[in-house]
Formats: sequence, C-alpha cells, structure tokens
Amino acid sequence: MQRLDKQFIGNRWVPSAGQRRLPVTNPYREEVIAEVTVGDPADVDSAVAAARRALPAWRASSGAERAVYLEGFAEALTRRRDELIRLSSTNNGKVLAEAGIDLDDAIACYRYYARQARELDQRQGRLVELERDGVEARCYHDPVGVVGLITPWNFPLVTSAWKLAPALAAGCTVVLKPSEVTPLPERALAEIALEVDLPAGVLNLLFGDGEGIGAPLAAHPGVDKVSFTGSNRVGEAVMRAAAERTADVSLELGGKSPILVMEDADPEQAADWVMAGIYFNAGQICSATSRLIAHEAIADRLYDALAVRIDALVLGNPLEDMTDMGPLTSARQRENVQAYLAIAEGERLRAVRDASHRTLPQRGYFVAPTLYRDVPTHSRLWREEIFGPVLCARSVASEEEAIELANDSDFGLAATVVSGDGERARRVGRQLQAGSVWLNSEQLVLPETGWGGFKRSGIGRELGPWGISAYLAVKHLVGPA
Ligand code: NAD
Repeated sequence: MQRLDKQFIGNRWVPSAGQRRLPVTNPYREEVIAEVTVGDPADVDSAVAAARRALPAWRASSGAERAVYLEGFAEALTRRRDELIRLSSTNNGKVLAEAGIDLDDAIACYRYYARQARELDQRQGRLVELERDGVEARCYHDPVGVVGLITPWNFPLVTSAWKLAPALAAGCTVVLKPSEVTPLPERALAEIALEVDLPAGVLNLLFGDGEGIGAPLAAHPGVDKVSFTGSNRVGEAVMRAAAERTADVSLELGGKSPILVMEDADPEQAADWVMAGIYFNAGQICSATSRLIAHEAIADRLYDALAVRIDALVLGNPLEDMTDMGPLTSARQRENVQAYLAIAEGERLRAVRDASHRTLPQRGYFVAPTLYRDVPTHSRLWREEIFGPVLCARSVASEEEAIELANDSDFGLAATVVSGDGERARRVGRQLQAGSVWLNSEQLVLPETGWGGFKRSGIGRELGPWGISAYLAVKHLVGPA
C-alpha cells in the first residue's frame, strides 16, 4: 500500500511530523488504496521557510525564464497523460473521458500561463499617461510573495493548475495543499517539479487535512496570500485567518447555478446541455447547473427528453469506456447527498427520475441520477449546493420570471441560457448574476476567460489575465521626467 507520509519541501521528500494517517480510497471498489498523513503545523513551518528562502531568486528571474518551467510542466503532464487519467479515475471515481478532459484543461492552463509569464516581461515598466507635465510614472507588477494554495477533491489536477501555473508565472513561491481525499494525482506535481529542475523551495507540496495543514497554512505569518477552492464554510475560515494579518485571499467557493431553457429552444438539444451540466463528474462540479428553470411551454417535453437520457446513463466502473457516470468520490459525500434525498422524501418532492427507477451497482458510492420537478423555492434542495447528481426543476411563465428566479440565490458562479434565438440568449445572459454564462453551449472552460463567482460563490477570478493578476502587486515608480 502506498504511504503518503512524506512532505515535498525544498525539492526533498521529508517525513511528515503528522502522527495520524487517513485512508485514501477507490470509491468504485470501496477499497483503501493508500494512506495519507494528516500533516502537522511543523510541516507548514518547514515548507513556508523553504518557500521564503527560494523567493528572492525566483522573483528576480524573468517571466521568460519561468515560462520554460511552465512549459516543462505541460510537457510532463502530456507525457504522463494516460497514467494520470487512470489515477484520477481510480482515486476520484470520475469516468476516463472526464479525467481526460481534466488533464487537457490542466495542460492548456500551464501553457497559457507560460505565455502570460512572457507577456508580463513586456508589461513591466510601462509609462503611465499623465495629465501633469514634468513627471514620469512607470507601472510594475511584483509577485505578492509566498502563497498558500488549498484545493478540493472534485477536480484535483485542474484546480491546482489554475492556481499553481499563474502563481509560478507571477514569480511567487508556493506551498500547495491538495485535498486529503484525492492526494494521489497531485503527488505527480512534486515529481514533475524534480523532473523539470524547478529550483528548490519554489513548489512545496504538503499532504494533510484541514486541521494538520490547511488551517495552519492559512494562518501562517510567512504566507503573503492564500488562494482557496472549496466549501463556503472553510473558505470563510480561511478569510478570517488571513484577516488577522491583513493577508490577501482569493476564494472559489460553492454554487447553485441555474440553466434557463426558453420556450423557443429545441427540447432535445436543450436536454443534452442540461444533462452535461448536472451529471458530469456525478454532479460534483462547483458550476453544476443544478437548478433547471424551464418555460412552461416547453417544460413537459424537456422533462420527457431528460427522463429518456437519464435512463440511458450507464453507471459503473469509471475505468470502463462504456460507463457514463461513476460513484461519488467518498462515502462522506454520498451521505451528504443522501441527506438531501431524505429531505426531498419528507417534502414529497415529485421525482421524474430517482433511485426507484434503476438498480444501482452493488458496490461503490453510487447515487442514482435524480430529477425533481416543481421544487418549491423555499426547499433546501432548491437553495443549497448538494454536490451530487440531483437536478431540481421549476417552470416559469415568462423570460422576466426566469431571470428573477435565476438570480434569486446566495450564489453566482455560473449559468446557462438555452434559446432558439442567439440574440435573446445574450440579452438574458447579460442580466444574470454569474461569473460564467454559457449561451447555447455545454460548459466550455477556456484558459483565456475568467473563472469565479458573484455573491457567495467567491472573491476574485482565476484564469485569463485575472488569474495572474491575483498573484501580482501593482507598484508605480514616480519621479521627474
Ligand atoms: P472543503 O472546503 O471541505 O475542502 C477544501 C480544502 O480545504 C481541502 O484541501 C481541505 O483539506 C481544506 N481544509 C479543510 N478545513 C480547512 C481549514 N480549516 N483551513 C484551511 N483549509 C482547510 O471542500 P471540498 O469538500 O474538498 O470541495 C467541495 C467544495 O468545493 C464545494 O463546495 C464546491 O462547490 C467547491 N468548489 C468550488 C470550485 C470553484 O471554482 N468555485 C471548484 C471546485 C470545488
């Protein structure tokens, strides 16, 4: 059995000071495949010290020099693509095709930030246009320093790429903490750091849980910024810890995103996009479009089209090509989702499809793909992030009502608009309070476009030029012309 009881600090694997270990499971086989240390605050001290030692030389390097390492990461991930896809599938339960999409997304992200690192060199020292004569001002972008990066278990290699690539491009040194639930795929990042000869201390990777590593990292006085992706509960704790020392945070948190289907849409095409928005990764997607808002003129046809597609989903071994949906990633997540299903039963929600419509595989943390219709807006299922394959639907009588209902949420991460009229889709999309709005499309995530939420879905943006800005501090040099 693999033991993840060593921490990657200063380009060496050193024993963790953590005393306890947690099981790492294969959620399809319900088997323990590795053990991971819970970590210890002493590990955080060592990793932050290594990152601080590495900072002066790394921040002094040019963007073009750092770009070479980022390209090295992209090439190494490409070389190890097949192995990492299988590892992600095994540890996370996602089907191979989805793990492949993740890998390609991560590779594209490292390549994109290699380009951004080179562009950063061009941006340094640009003259600022001034009204005043006789004065010259130039703008520079300095790395914020040592950054703590904390990631969840649903898209391990992707969420870490979205942080690590721009942080390295900016000239920051890093302490990265993967989720204790899926530490195996991200272990490869430390191996790649060695392969590409990344200078010691630029990337430190700490295994552990929230108590052993996450909280001490967020609170560490030697950490200048924390970028966190995960739940609202923990994100708020991270922000409170950072506030104690006025440190910057970026937060990518939860969602309860809507998909709006207008009466002029093709119900069959709309059904495909609805399916992809909620059952991908067994619904464990922060941007899951888990609230379906359908115009009443199309709602019944849409529910019928969805029922056919849900029945056709093959649940099973994520490593088999024919499987459409794997298990949830952990027993705990299955319990979380089942608690919502119990509420739905108590509220007598009307299920178009649920567990009564299929036989689940005998083992694995499976939950049946579920669709409830006419869900009251006060139901917890309508309002809270479930993070599983549970779709809640309501019908509306007008475009205005659809927009109002879509925006009536604490969250604002993403949304999808489906309409036969592209102009109308754009008009509706402009009125939605969400960071990413897809128009007549699946959920396309592009390294050039920003990612992040309105309202309680987070603070700041990842990807695009905003992604690197999150790790840069603006500085002006002003003097006589
Ligand atoms: P989580 O908040 O439980 O854990 C996230 C990470 O924080 C893990 O690495 C965990 O070990 C660590 N952690 C736990 N306690 C901590 C503490 N006190 N201080 C610091 N770190 C601590 O979230 P999760 O269950 O791993 O992931 C699911 C959540 O992530 C969902 O709410 C989902 O919406 C969100 N998510 C958001 C995005 C996005 O881009 N907005 C992307 C993926 C996931």
